[in-house]
Amino acid sequence: MVELIEEETAELAADLQSLRDELGALLELSEESARPVDLDQPIGRLSRVDAMQQQSMAKATREGHRLRLDQVKLALAALAEDEYGLCRHCEEPIGFKRLKARPETPLCVACQGRMELKHGG
Ligand SMILES: [Zn+2]
Repeated sequence: MVELIEEETAELAADLQSLRDELGALLELSEESARPVDLDQPIGRLSRVDAMQQQSMAKATREGHRLRLDQVKLALAALAEDEYGLCRHCEEPIGFKRLKARPETPLCVACQGRMELKHGG
């Protein structure tokens, strides 16, 4: 893999910033739906189960967004330290194509693959 050129870093930095904004907005929006179901609400048993299922789904989505936002923030910090684009495990360049698809990714393809093998999927 080759290291990023200046233009690529700038492009990815912009991607990261808009990702951070989008995820922040999504988290704010989903705050409402992830609240615990009010069991005193006068709703039937089925709709209560429904509401609880919806809530746990909203919670899972929210958790995913939150984890992703953490990675985006770490990537932005790495950018400030001039360490962005390097695999956090083997320190090899991650490559522009992979970063363009997922600018917050902290690992190169090889290390990501190894991680997934280790964690069984
Ligand atoms: Zn690596």
